[in-house]
Amino acid sequence: MHDLVVRGGTIVDGTGRERFEGDLAVDDGRIVAVGEVAAPGRREIDARHLVVAPGWVDVHTHYDGQVTWDPELSPSSWHGVTTLVMGNCGVGFAPVRPGQEDFLIELMEGVEDIPGTALHEGIRWRWESFPEYMDALAGMERVVDVAAQVPHCAIRAYVLGERAHDLEVSDEELGEMARLTREAVRAGAIGFSTSRTILHRSRHGLVPGTHSKPEELLALGNALGEAGHGVFEMVSDLQGQEPDLSWMKEFCRRTGRTITFALAQSPVQPTAWRETLERVEALNREGLRIVPQVPCRPTGMLFGLQSSFHSFITHPTYRDLLAALPLAERVARLRDPQIRARLLAEEPSTANGIARALMSNWSYIFPLGDPPDYEPAPETCAAAVAEREGRRPEEVVYDWMLEREGRQFLFAPLANYVERDFGALREMMLHPSTVLGLSDGGAHCGLICDASMPTYLLTHWVRDRARGERIPLEQAVRLQTGNTARVYGFADRGTLEVGKKADLNVIDLDALHLHAPEMVFDLPASGRRLVQRVDGYRATIVAGTPTFEHGEATGARPGKLVRARG
Ligand SMILES: [Zn+2]
Repeated sequence: MHDLVVRGGTIVDGTGRERFEGDLAVDDGRIVAVGEVAAPGRREIDARHLVVAPGWVDVHTHYDGQVTWDPELSPSSWHGVTTLVMGNCGVGFAPVRPGQEDFLIELMEGVEDIPGTALHEGIRWRWESFPEYMDALAGMERVVDVAAQVPHCAIRAYVLGERAHDLEVSDEELGEMARLTREAVRAGAIGFSTSRTILHRSRHGLVPGTHSKPEELLALGNALGEAGHGVFEMVSDLQGQEPDLSWMKEFCRRTGRTITFALAQSPVQPTAWRETLERVEALNREGLRIVPQVPCRPTGMLFGLQSSFHSFITHPTYRDLLAALPLAERVARLRDPQIRARLLAEEPSTANGIARALMSNWSYIFPLGDPPDYEPAPETCAAAVAEREGRRPEEVVYDWMLEREGRQFLFAPLANYVERDFGALREMMLHPSTVLGLSDGGAHCGLICDASMPTYLLTHWVRDRARGERIPLEQAVRLQTGNTARVYGFADRGTLEVGKKADLNVIDLDALHLHAPEMVFDLPASGRRLVQRVDGYRATIVAGTPTFEHGEATGARPGKLVRARG
């Protein structure tokens, strides 16, 4: 008698090998048989006509705050994620000096658009050091496994205090930062993270460490080499080009560890990603471990009356008369022909050139719809529709925003959509050196909702894509399980093999359905966040225990803190 038998499913094991029909048995939270299982289970799940896959391993989230108050960690857990990595992009909440909590919250709010009020109310600070943070996490129950990286910003704030943003640091300070990083990695941090992009700002300006010198990055990165585990994660405007590349290579050579960085097809350098991949591939052939991290759909914003940005948000009439009204009232007023005429006669009032360009980038604004379409055809953009109908794009966008009683979102892809199809993305995703990531689960609450990416990988890439080649199920599953787990060194999970942790998804692939994003107000202090619901996960299982069945949480909380070990 086994603890659990998942019977008669289509097993897609996360290694990339071809699917096969079979059973899977679990005892004590581990997989003990894959193939034919004669013995019954105390619990049996009938998986006939269903896909049985490993639980998704999402390596790029920002649940560092939410993890301390929300055992469910939605929306990622709704989407089959069973292991998630936090502490990305240099921001997080440990170590923290008493009195510095607000500063770290402001950084997180600025960079990741998580409401500061929610973080204030939600987090009960029961730690100062990173090891204490880990102990606090280990002492809480939750639905999924979590792993934490030590963030550069927090290390800098802890050691440098008021001078956290300073470029220059003394040898003593650098030594102290390195010691704290070492301490964190020894306590099981799964990596170290930093931000080198001008896009990541708080009210204090660029986040601490944005321009840190290679010596500093190497000194802190050494902790990973000494411990023999952990990944260096980075978001950088240079995306793996010089002058970053030199110290990245140096880091890999010195430590033997992996460095992963966010890679995107940028509208400014639309072919640079391909050169980067070629360079990385050549270096990896020499034995380095440089891993560009790519998403499975464009990085884009959701414009709408409920989100924090749209084409009219700085128009004087909108800003002064409408912005503060409840949604229903706003929709009613916007439908008033007089208000409509007045608003459409105005211009954006912002002096911010980037914001202005984004809000009127009509060739890259599309209705997202329900079900959402993240690969919309060029002829459906605001500019094309306006042209066809002899209207101004402003009018088209205005009317779109009022659809679904003002709950429509417009999709404004920023990166990975230059040709307005997924050709470049597909090449990036399937490149042997890359890893899937950048879902940013738990973050960007007012403008982006990409925690659903693992589901989208199946609905769009495997099943529905009509505008180009799809990705075979076996490959897609491997990208989100075996491959992500391998890059982050999770040796005990990511594939359905005997001895591995029994983290599973049982999926009705035909019924898998991604809903349109919606704004909910369920964070602490009634903070808002975008979430996205899903149907079609028959069961999600963590360490042999079902956590979700038919889309409902079972109440079980088998999730653990994962500590990295060398
Ligand atoms: Zn991030």
